[in-house]
Amino acid sequence: MILILLGPPGAGKGTQAKLLSAEYHVPHISTGDMFRDHKARGTELGKQIQAIMDAGALVTDDVTNALVKDRLSRPDVADGFILDGYPRTIAQAEYLDGLLQSMGRSLTRVVSYDVAEEAIVERISGRRSCPKCGAVYHVSGNPPRRMGYCDRDGAGLVQRDDDKPENVKKRMAEYGNKTEPLKRFYRERGLLANVDGIGTPEGILAATKRILSK
Ligand code: AMP
Ligand code: ZN
Repeated sequence: MILILLGPPGAGKGTQAKLLSAEYHVPHISTGDMFRDHKARGTELGKQIQAIMDAGALVTDDVTNALVKDRLSRPDVADGFILDGYPRTIAQAEYLDGLLQSMGRSLTRVVSYDVAEEAIVERISGRRSCPKCGAVYHVSGNPPRRMGYCDRDGAGLVQRDDDKPENVKKRMAEYGNKTEPLKRFYRERGLLANVDGIGTPEGILAATKRILSK
């Protein structure tokens, strides 16, 4: 099971990736999480990408592809994996094709979560996450039991820098210009499936599983 999840920022890809990862027992690979981790640890890479990420722009293809190549060399991907936030450009998609080919593997499916722009802005502006465990909440849609604190570990929730309103516009533009063309790329290869991204996480998971069982 090798899946790519596509969709604009705030479409719920990360939530679905976590649920699908638990369901199919394969790792969830989020380039955004990996970059955020480097940033938090203050590594050389983290310093290099900090300003780009905070502005909502895309990290270069070379840097991103190298990160993914390294991740896919680990043994836990043997039964498959779920890519969340990668590929994001045609150049990344072509690189991934070559990488999978060299590994003797191929994509199972590309799931695109469709959500209208107005809904996205609402979702992103209310999103809060736990800096400790990565749990994601929404102030109205999926609030923690105690406002502002993680249900699992009590850590204070934060808003990602790139979820701040001024950066959301930039991310939407990056998505439209660079990532949206991937839908056609994968449609032409017969791999694309569209799932309505509006609904509860459980409902959207069920719709995704129906598509994957076909
Ligand atoms: P995400 O959590 O997927 O929205 O990613 C957060 C940020 O990390 C993005 O706004 C980019 O700056 C960077 N990033 C994540 N994945 C990629 C990618 N595949 N290509 C380029 N930049 C990426
Ligand atoms: Zn937590």
